[in-house]
Amino acid sequence: MSAIDGLPPLREVIARHGLSAKKALGQNFLLDLNLTAKIARAAGDLTQCDVLEVGPGPGGLTRGLLAEGARHVLAVEKDPRCLPALAEIAEAYPGRLSVVNADALGLDVSAHLTPPIKIVANLPYNVGTELLVRWLTPSVWPPVWQSLTLMFQREVAERIVAVPGSKAYGRLALLAQWRCDAKIVMELPPEAFTPPPKVRSAVVNLVARATPRFEADPKVLERVVAAGFNQRRKMLRASLKSLAPDIEDRLRAAGIDPTDRAETVDLERFCALARSLG
Ligand code: SAM
Repeated sequence: MSAIDGLPPLREVIARHGLSAKKALGQNFLLDLNLTAKIARAAGDLTQCDVLEVGPGPGGLTRGLLAEGARHVLAVEKDPRCLPALAEIAEAYPGRLSVVNADALGLDVSAHLTPPIKIVANLPYNVGTELLVRWLTPSVWPPVWQSLTLMFQREVAERIVAVPGSKAYGRLALLAQWRCDAKIVMELPPEAFTPPPKVRSAVVNLVARATPRFEADPKVLERVVAAGFNQRRKMLRASLKSLAPDIEDRLRAAGIDPTDRAETVDLERFCALARSLG
């Protein structure tokens, strides 16, 4: 049975191109085109946007993005075995899909994309987390991208949207929520993937805010948050001692009890402390 885009089903594509999943590349493919269209829709209206897709694999999500009307998709895939399958998709959507065979961690793609830009990816989780941190820490804000729609292990997704006082709350939550609106928009069981991974997955949508939620110098904020969470069981007066001799006064002035631990302090108070140390 052919799919809505006239291209063959993904199982057939994978068999024809010999795309047996490689563990080293974190290959867990999505073969259900209804599901990939749903993920594409979670990125919002794509019709006026260029989309950067990292790790298209055999192209299930790529097909979802194109079927949902993305103006242009730039797909960056490390595994050269996937290129022929992706070339077939490019042929079915003339002029709308470009494919680059590269490691996304070593590539600056901004020159190939025209704003507005949205980024969508189903990546191995370690690569995804590293790219997320890079996308969240550009040299200027607002960034070149409007939104990020990314698949993670559920546990990582929970760290991104975590609230103070929860176990998952830490640097990733503060970094993501300082300048983005972040939410989990979908959860997927292991069986949604071929082969199934060991854990559940979730799609997180991060929309860049025009300005940060609270004022702070990014480098100072990062230093404070890193020091606080590197020793998350310690009281802040101890873990932040090296940042200023009068740290206890500065903590109090920022509305923080010096005996508090980092995991109970919200973003607003971390930013107040960063301003006092900046
Ligand atoms: N997007 C496809 C899907 O949803 O079915 C494939 C997802 S699979 C979890 C991850 C994909 O990322 C694989 O195709 C893998 O080859 C690719 N990949 C892994 N590391 C990469 C990297 N550093 N740069 C670009 N692609 C990478």
